[in-house]
Amino acid sequence: MNDLEFQQIKDQITLQIATLLNEKTLLQEKLQPIAPDCCLGDLTRFEMMHEQDIFQRSLLHVEVRLTNLQHLFHTIDANPDYGQCCECYDEIPFQRLLLIPETKYCIHCALGHKI
Ligand SMILES: [Zn+2]
Repeated sequence: MNDLEFQQIKDQITLQIATLLNEKTLLQEKLQPIAPDCCLGDLTRFEMMHEQDIFQRSLLHVEVRLTNLQHLFHTIDANPDYGQCCECYDEIPFQRLLLIPETKYCIHCALGHKI
């Protein structure tokens, strides 16, 4: 990875952190408690609770990514191994790093992990 690519990845980290912070705010607004008397019928209330469950999971996902990206942002300059797969030690392709800057694995090893 050259300096220009490295800078592009750092810009991408900043951008993704900003986007995730926005998403987090939106999700938190949607996660206001449902008042028991907010009734348009039982089914609607049930549907709202189901929706909140989905928002809750999304929020968790956003928070985990935020933590990882913020950590990366503060450590990337001091990490000479950044961009190297933790498992096979190959260089992680630049396009993959742009998409998921916090990834520790190349696509091949990442797929191996999830199966
Ligand atoms: Zn790998």
